[in-house]
Amino acid sequence: MTDFHAVKLSGIAHPANVTAMLDEICEHFVEHSDVVYNDGIATLKSTDWTIEIATTDDFLNIEIHSENDEALAATRTMFAEHLFYFAGEQPFSLEWSTPAPKVRPPGFFEATVVSAEDVTPRMRRVTLSLTDASPFIGGNMHVRLLVPPRGRTPVWPNLEANGRIGWPEGEDELIVRVYTIRSVDLESNRVCIDFLQHPAEGVATPGADFARDTMAGEQVALMGPGGGGLPQADVIFFAGDESALPAIARMVEEAPPGVTMTALIEVENAGEEQALRTQARLHTEWLHRASYAADGAKTLVGRVKAALENVGDDTFVWFAAEKSDVRAIKRSLADRKRDRKRQYVAWYWDKES
Ligand SMILES: Cc1cc2nc3c(=O)[nH]c(=O)nc-3n(C[C@H](O)[C@H](O)[C@H](O)COP(=O)(O)OP(=O)(O)OC[C@H]3O[C@@H](n4cnc5c(N)ncnc54)[C@H](O)[C@@H]3O)c2cc1C
Repeated sequence: MTDFHAVKLSGIAHPANVTAMLDEICEHFVEHSDVVYNDGIATLKSTDWTIEIATTDDFLNIEIHSENDEALAATRTMFAEHLFYFAGEQPFSLEWSTPAPKVRPPGFFEATVVSAEDVTPRMRRVTLSLTDASPFIGGNMHVRLLVPPRGRTPVWPNLEANGRIGWPEGEDELIVRVYTIRSVDLESNRVCIDFLQHPAEGVATPGADFARDTMAGEQVALMGPGGGGLPQADVIFFAGDESALPAIARMVEEAPPGVTMTALIEVENAGEEQALRTQARLHTEWLHRASYAADGAKTLVGRVKAALENVGDDTFVWFAAEKSDVRAIKRSLADRKRDRKRQYVAWYWDKES
């Protein structure tokens, strides 16, 4: 049992297939925590929490340990959301020794739009004002942006007893999209998010459209931050498309002197390149999608695969882009049998959606 975490919470999950779910939990969390998994018992350990899971024929017995009640509540919600996601359409139930109170989810912040401006022709920056921007400093850098229907008083989510987030429905349904906090200004309590204006034939693009149309004074909310930040490594290889550019730009800005970084970034054309500021050593290479061969060759994936040939085992590999590109790079990294603790490989959008 964990001794340095002061508070704990027990839960019982009832999935359709206990072993399959525990396998999926361990497979997913191995990139976010230390996972020990033997004989139907798993321990997931991160800096902020420990989650112990023991199986019976029908149930997962869960114990979450954390440093304080706030962190415990956030961990419960994070884990509950994962479990329901892993369950998919299959029947699933989850109960806790102390049910979650019906309050705003952990890490919920109301925000007001201050301004919106183009950084490049396809990247639009929205500045948001918060009561306190300090939770967005350091560490995790991604958020869920919640945009209420225009012209309606926002109805914000509350927790359900099982720890999940209960989202408003019907006319109050929110647009929810994941973005990166590009920068934080503590003096003015403002944060910026950069939104790619991606053209999608015949499909709505609510996240991109919000950034295009928003005006000062619009009320939105942020949930987070989560999802990691600058890797703790002396040598980092970054790669990704425009959806990853805000994250890469923020991380290279936060990297301390002494870190050596390479960034391979795919944008539409030269007009979409951005100056990346850093105190560390950075070599940047821009790929222009508009100049790719007409056969649609996967140039980002091809170039990343080629670059990986020369990446040492100590180098941290960070890659984010479209889902199928990410799958290709994951396979390539798996073939190299790299330590998964030294990589972050995440899909930021899905061309099939
Ligand atoms: C951790 C994380 C951080 C992210 N950070 C940022 C960020 O800082 N800035 C940012 O712009 N995006 C970011 N993204 C990506 C963003 O969440 C997605 O692009 C999202 O789908 C945009 O929502 P939408 O409403 O505009 O389009 P959706 O309603 O989700 O999709 C509509 C259509 O547009 C297509 N589409 C979606 N995204 C793209 C894209 N990037 N390029 C081309 N076509 C696309 C879809 O395939 C679909 O056909 C991030 C994603 C994650 C997971």
